[in-house]
Amino acid sequence: MALKYCQGPDCHTYYTQDRLKGIKGSKTYQTRRRSSLNYGEFCDTRCEHAWLSKYATQAVNHFGRLKEVKHLTEQNAWRKDYDYNWREGTTSNWRFVNKITKEQRPLTKQQYDDTNYTLNER
Ligand SMILES: [Zn+2]
Repeated sequence: MALKYCQGPDCHTYYTQDRLKGIKGSKTYQTRRRSSLNYGEFCDTRCEHAWLSKYATQAVNHFGRLKEVKHLTEQNAWRKDYDYNWREGTTSNWRFVNKITKEQRPLTKQQYDDTNYTLNER
């Protein structure tokens, strides 16, 4: 499997033993690489924050800047919920709950797990 490189712009500048690599006498601190990274594109939250500090404005401008207030209304306030039995470690009673009206509607486990299934208007 190909290794993924941490996208943190300063990953190679942090002095940790696992970053120090190479043959004896010419070791360098290097960008971390892993088969899978714990924080998406990054090895840790420090690298994630470093990337955000450097590129957040560019990313927001690229993907679309919010230019007006958004509102939570009855039409987009549906959230999925379930009951968890701590003693048995089981789940049940999957449901939609409207955070504005408090109305509840039952869900199947499959509908709960389906991230595309929503009652919210987009
Ligand atoms: Zn990193």
